[in-house]
Amino acid sequence: MTCTAAGGNPPPSSSPSGTPNTSPSPSTSTSQPPATGCNGAAFCDGFESQTGSTVSGAWGLSYRDCQGTGTATVDTTVAHSGSKSVRIDGKAGYCNHVLVKPTKDLSGLGSVWYARFYVRHSTALPAAHVAFAALRDNADAGKDLRLGGQNSALQWNRESNDATLPAQSPAGVAQSRPLPTNTWNCVEFMVDGRGLLSTWLNGAAIPGLTVDGVPTPDIDQQWLATTWRPQVTDLRLGWESYGVGDDTLWFDDVAIGASRIGC
Ligand code: CA
Repeated sequence: MTCTAAGGNPPPSSSPSGTPNTSPSPSTSTSQPPATGCNGAAFCDGFESQTGSTVSGAWGLSYRDCQGTGTATVDTTVAHSGSKSVRIDGKAGYCNHVLVKPTKDLSGLGSVWYARFYVRHSTALPAAHVAFAALRDNADAGKDLRLGGQNSALQWNRESNDATLPAQSPAGVAQSRPLPTNTWNCVEFMVDGRGLLSTWLNGAAIPGLTVDGVPTPDIDQQWLATTWRPQVTDLRLGWESYGVGDDTLWFDDVAIGASRIGC
């Protein structure tokens, strides 16, 4: 199944284009969780300054290619902190994708991005591919790096060639984690322009969602089959479902910075 067929264009070739990346050292996943809060993040917002049902000010809506029935609204009845969050009524189908994104220009943040957000959702991740976060990668022709799920567990996906992290083999999926429903989850990740990636769920590193620069079967071997040096420039949160899979999600306390922010 491809997740990139919406525009009718076939995914680019993913044939290996050189030696797998083995140079960076896998040192980032050992960092200690710092204190809670914004912790010096370049962007940090919990929707408390929102005044209407449609996001404004620090947040904007993103419908990248087409707009359907997916909605994003400020919710004053559910919150991780304070009294507000953003609610996503996510619907299946490409044109129903809806995301919110900081209006602040974060393109100058640097080559290493850390993000922390809280997400609460209603329906377990489906077998089909879905995403709840997307980052534009200027080093990948502006295509998205996507965090979501497949085979009922969390995964990263590259829009450009449909590479997944972990590989969607049973052994790979077993190295990921489900995203618990009906509770606030703290999701953290780190994307390093040298080609490294780490992911934490509620403070615990997820082995299958780690690119450490050393190709590992079932985890990042496929991911590293093509050179990957991401230059991310934004973060969008919401819902993308490429085949089947509705969900209702809430996001709160979103922070983006150059060092780990913590839960
Ligand atoms: Ca809030």
